[in-house]
Amino acid sequence: MKFGTIAIHAGVEPDPTTGAIMTPVYQTSTYVQPSPAKHKGYAYARGANPTRTALQKSIAALENGKFGICFSSGMGATDTVIKLLKPGDEVITSNDLYGGSFRMFTKVYEKYGIKFHFVDLTNAANAAPLVNAKTKLFWLETPSNPLMRIIDIRSLVAMAKKNGSLVAVDNTFASPFLQNPLDLGADIVMHSVTKYLSGHSDVIMGALVVNDEKLRDELAFITNSCGAVPGPQDCFLVLRGIKTLHLRMQRHCQNGKQVAEFLRSHPKVGKVYWPGFADHPNHEIAKKQMRDFGGMMSFELKGDNLEHAIKLMESVKIFSLAESLGGVESLINHPASMTHASIPKAERMKNGLSDTLIRLSVGVEDIEDIIGDLSQALEKA
Ligand SMILES: *Cc1c(COP(=O)(O)O)cnc(C)c1O
Repeated sequence: MKFGTIAIHAGVEPDPTTGAIMTPVYQTSTYVQPSPAKHKGYAYARGANPTRTALQKSIAALENGKFGICFSSGMGATDTVIKLLKPGDEVITSNDLYGGSFRMFTKVYEKYGIKFHFVDLTNAANAAPLVNAKTKLFWLETPSNPLMRIIDIRSLVAMAKKNGSLVAVDNTFASPFLQNPLDLGADIVMHSVTKYLSGHSDVIMGALVVNDEKLRDELAFITNSCGAVPGPQDCFLVLRGIKTLHLRMQRHCQNGKQVAEFLRSHPKVGKVYWPGFADHPNHEIAKKQMRDFGGMMSFELKGDNLEHAIKLMESVKIFSLAESLGGVESLINHPASMTHASIPKAERMKNGLSDTLIRLSVGVEDIEDIIGDLSQALEKA
């Protein structure tokens, strides 16, 4: 099956009791057993729920993977991967990371004796000197947030495999429509389902997808033991959202390209960070491992004046000033004070994340209105 067909059909079967074409919301905490000796695979809803099962199959199929596990948030999914580790283990990850991941790694898990190395992984060679027997995990995020840097998944997988380390990829920005890390050799794909998979800004959820059954069992054991599972109503909403994932992503990509080109040609705009530009430093890798370039981008204003940037963000009318991304509506965000405020300023500046950087999640509205809005806001900036 091709992607659009998978998005609509994978995991979903008519309800066995009524034939309902949509998977029902199994709003239940427990399941009645016919006898202590036989149960139907569903015992208690922390462990399993049929609405969640359908969604897990759908997300696994979208990632060309065998097993999916859903969580009450993207961070719940990430947390479960880190719980595979033990004190003394080391993780290699990038220095341009989702702020919440950086916060979890440094503020929660460093005190449990897990060591995180934050390096510029756009050059895989930077990781080589850090690899040792304690390196148990590579945590990759590509495209990165918010600077849209691209990491070559295949070359880091090659380095990790030689060392027997696991590779997990946060695939939130690309969505499975643009990139499938398991096909590039990764062991674990992580999603903030909150974003493109859900697509309608109405759910917080996370997911992991793996091919290895033993790894699935370990992750499912931690999930059931620690309990960060999503409710069935949220699973239903995401199942519904996924049915248009391919249509939404096509439009996000089309609109994204036009907005990136508009910004780049605007006299008030300085640098535009979007991997679809032929002169983006990682464009060749992006072309190789992604099917298109998406609707996420960042830019700076010429002169790097924070007041001008704030004026712009106050002047938009169709864009909404908000954290998050990947919904149908266009969002504008100020990473330094919003999504990435949990990263200390010195650390941010070192990694190229300036105070005036503006991030866009270009939605699926009509492109004339999106560009018209940015154009009038730039005039006021
Ligand atoms: C939002 C996000 C997360 C965290 O997911 P939540 O669903 O908000 O917990 C992790 N990684 C990336 C890249 C994100 O954008």
